Amino acid sequence: MRRRADLKTGTTCNSNCVFCVIGDHLFTGDRSTEACIEELRRSRATCIDVVFTGAEVSIRPDFLQLVRAARRLGYERIQIQTNGRMFAYREFCERTIAAGANEFSPSLHGHTAKLHDALTRAPGSFVQIDAAIDHLVALGQRVVTNTVVTKQNARHLPALAHYLVRKRVAQFQLAFPHPTGHAGTLFDQVVPRISEVAPWIHEALDIGRAGGVACMAEAMPFCMMAGHEAEVAELHMPATEIVYDGYVVPDYAADRMARGKLRFASCAPCRYEPICEGPWREYPERMGAAEFVPVPGPRVIDDALVLDGRVALLGRVAPPLPHAASGWRAICFVPEAGSPGCTAQLCSLATRRDALVAEGVQVIVVAPQSAAAVTAWAQRHAPGAIALADEDGALARAYGALDERGALRRTTVLVDPDDRIAHVIVAVDTAAHGAQLLAAWRRLHAPPRPLGPTPDLVTLRRGAVSSGAAQ
Ligand code: SF4
Repeated sequence: MRRRADLKTGTTCNSNCVFCVIGDHLFTGDRSTEACIEELRRSRATCIDVVFTGAEVSIRPDFLQLVRAARRLGYERIQIQTNGRMFAYREFCERTIAAGANEFSPSLHGHTAKLHDALTRAPGSFVQIDAAIDHLVALGQRVVTNTVVTKQNARHLPALAHYLVRKRVAQFQLAFPHPTGHAGTLFDQVVPRISEVAPWIHEALDIGRAGGVACMAEAMPFCMMAGHEAEVAELHMPATEIVYDGYVVPDYAADRMARGKLRFASCAPCRYEPICEGPWREYPERMGAAEFVPVPGPRVIDDALVLDGRVALLGRVAPPLPHAASGWRAICFVPEAGSPGCTAQLCSLATRRDALVAEGVQVIVVAPQSAAAVTAWAQRHAPGAIALADEDGALARAYGALDERGALRRTTVLVDPDDRIAHVIVAVDTAAHGAQLLAAWRRLHAPPRPLGPTPDLVTLRRGAVSSGAAQ
């Protein structure tokens, strides 16, 4: 899996945003050049990409040196998270790109100087970030902006989306504030009601999508994103390890779930309970949980399915098969009986047949070849397996396993005893499909996940590096 290191280089910033999550410890020290490079070297063993963060890395005197070090170490995607102010200077953009950076994430909090500057508390910062975006886009860089949603800018988000489409950014993200740091201290002044700002977020996402810009919303649980579920940002985040002050959080997603976010007892019947992170915990601690209303419908157990059109199959009546079947069954659509991938999948299912039968799951493999070919293939590699021919593709079409061009997508559909489609495996692992199917069935039947913080160890001391904070 592609992994990214998030290197937090320090706490010095040239802005003072009202929602800054490290606002309560700004200017408490920056890591030395040597310490940062050593962390880059260590993280390269597990990560292929890197993002430089915290607080404003571009104002460090050694900024270009760090970017060059990342490139020398072979990081492929080198992202700079920034308030954008230094990149108002085109020459600085060019030098940063020459050093190796190839993706930029400026934080833009309003579409006007009045709005943005009020939130950053840095007069002139809008003019600077506006120029920065122009320079970076003109220089062919991938620009992915981040906007923190506040009481002040929420109703202007559609206007911001129009602005960003005009700016030709590659992607924008709207983030509900994490109420720590300044956002915790200034909660009442800054943090909006999540259900009240959801419609403006949706409108902005619609504008972005219509304008051809990838867009998403962070820290907005699924119950706040009806019709925009595929734009829940957490579904798109790369696997990330966070590195700071000699510590590493090896799995940021697990850390968010264990410590950062909160779900509620009332979430138990929600269809997204198996995958939802819930809001940042500080929000319901202040505002309560009443806004978070469980979403009815068949349980969604896999992030990948939310991003796939086949999610619409959930809950539908399963089309009939030319084979008597009842109880739980898995219908595995494979593209070519006899091919190495399909044979691996068939054999993998055979190795788990006993376990699946013990759970009451019948497996039916469907291939678009002739009955003779499909039967011979199945009997050769998995004697006793149920294999059906679907030469005209009628079954695959009925089960949504064909793409828009009519090509068969490897798809496994789990049908429940009431003949309803309960789950669709859209990212089939052919070599381990038996285990994958068993895990999916068990997850469908799992009780709600534990609430609140877990005792999991999510932060590890990395051991001493050459030096710590350099004041
Ligand atoms: S699990 Fe809870 S927070 Fe998540 S979408 Fe459902 S009701 Fe909302």
